[in-house]
Amino acid sequence: MSAQPPSYGRQQVYGYLKRYFGFDDFRLGQADVIRSILSGKEAIAVLPTGGGKSLCYQLPAILMPGTSLVISPLIALMRDQVMALRQRGIPAASIDSSQDYAEREAVEQAFVEGQLKLLYVSPERLNAQRFLDMLQLVEVPFVAVDEAHCVLRWGHEFREAYLGIRPFLDALKPRHVAAFTATATPQLRSELAETLGLKDPDVYVRGFFRSNLHLEHEKMASEAARHKKLLQLVRGRSGNAPALIYAATRQATEDAAAMLCRAGVNASFYHGGCESDYRSRAQDEFVADELDALVATNAFGMGIDKPDLRLLVHLSLPRSFEDYYQEVGRAGRDGKDSQVVTLWRGADYRTQSFLIDQQPDPGYREAAMRRLNRMYDALRSTHCVWKRVLEYFGDPDVAALDRGCNACVGCRNPKRELRSLDGKDLKSCLAILTCVKQLDGRFGRARIVKILKGSKAQGVPDWPDSYGSLPKARLADLESFCQKLLDGGYLEVVGSEYPTLGLAARGCSALEGAEEIAIAMSSSAHS
Ligand code: ADP
Ligand code: MG
Repeated sequence: MSAQPPSYGRQQVYGYLKRYFGFDDFRLGQADVIRSILSGKEAIAVLPTGGGKSLCYQLPAILMPGTSLVISPLIALMRDQVMALRQRGIPAASIDSSQDYAEREAVEQAFVEGQLKLLYVSPERLNAQRFLDMLQLVEVPFVAVDEAHCVLRWGHEFREAYLGIRPFLDALKPRHVAAFTATATPQLRSELAETLGLKDPDVYVRGFFRSNLHLEHEKMASEAARHKKLLQLVRGRSGNAPALIYAATRQATEDAAAMLCRAGVNASFYHGGCESDYRSRAQDEFVADELDALVATNAFGMGIDKPDLRLLVHLSLPRSFEDYYQEVGRAGRDGKDSQVVTLWRGADYRTQSFLIDQQPDPGYREAAMRRLNRMYDALRSTHCVWKRVLEYFGDPDVAALDRGCNACVGCRNPKRELRSLDGKDLKSCLAILTCVKQLDGRFGRARIVKILKGSKAQGVPDWPDSYGSLPKARLADLESFCQKLLDGGYLEVVGSEYPTLGLAARGCSALEGAEEIAIAMSSSAHS
């Protein structure tokens, strides 16, 4: 494979987009990803679910000579895509364990004869000698790794066989390689590149903001209050589609559905423990708008492509932004305004951390706690939720939200009255800003407040000048000031997996005395 890579013109690329897919234009990020792939650069594309990742490898595969490989973790995903490609007249096939002998043989035949443009395989296939032998006979210019986060050992969907991709690529040396995922924080992206053996990939993260999804969150004082609020939301929803409600446990789905039924709402529940007859009936009724509400665990949702969900409720603290975003994304797929509400309690946090603590693997426990804490922090804040989401995934469009997203509770009805600080409060806030500046973004909130208190606890450095500068302040007050300074744009979160605090531009001018510090007084969202 030493020949010069062929080059592809803009006209040809757009021509194929129209001819094979029927689209006039690319979605956010797609053109960049495709350009990198075609130019022979390795690429990592982080686009949200439904963002159009498949096109990013299908189109280059059609343009290139030979047969491109797509590594995919799920038979159902492969089959759907193969069927859709064939309907568009593109020769594609998959090799998977659900095929009988004759089917498999027909695919292998077409593959070695070079008749396919795309071949989908599971990661396990990469070890099969028979498959490796066939590869000797075929030109494979491009390998696409779909759902690439499955390679992350502490990730939420680790798949051992994905670790075989790197040696496979090292041996095959395809000219073009790209990896696709909907969930990878900036920190995890470098881990992902390394584990797949990508040296200097172009990374594209785009399209996470969905302006039609109105995000709300509210801290509930009791389970009864949570149920009451849920009932209100279900009754007040717009449209004909049922409300989709996610609860953390099987028991919680049944409790909430029973409560709704008692109140005269036509509700069902869905979880992994239900009989499969019961589950498919619930699913059918849900899709046919025969329910007012379906309360489900996260076992529900894969493969449900209902475009008109107007209300989605989280009945607990989501475990991570990954889970949250994936579930949120099931609302308003038709682009119309939809309401997404998280009703959370402090007890949820304790339950989740207890469950994480039961996990045997310390590496997993640590990663899972970090994911949980990021979510928890965002919900305790009164500020833009979308900004937090985009920050978490490292989407550069976060900059465009500086003046508010107009799609979350904080930005749409800013009840917060800003108060200019003076006296003791001002002194505390200035001390926090000073400390953050001295530490240059290297420490998180918990340690910063301990430094200011002058704590002698392990891991609290005593070298910063501001060490012990607020000995009398309460830790909880200082933490709350940190949050408000974050919310007000004086501080910013830097780093994603290991969030630390950095000084934002506004914080700098406050320290220089060029700007007053005015922060929100409403503290209802704080625990
Ligand atoms: P992902 O894998 O990122 O979750 P898919 O590749 O399954 O998303 O695409 C989701 C949907 O978006 C599909 O129905 C696809 O046809 C559609 N789509 C992809 N690219 C475009 C485009 N450029 N214009 C319009 N629709 C698109
Ligand atoms: Mg996909």
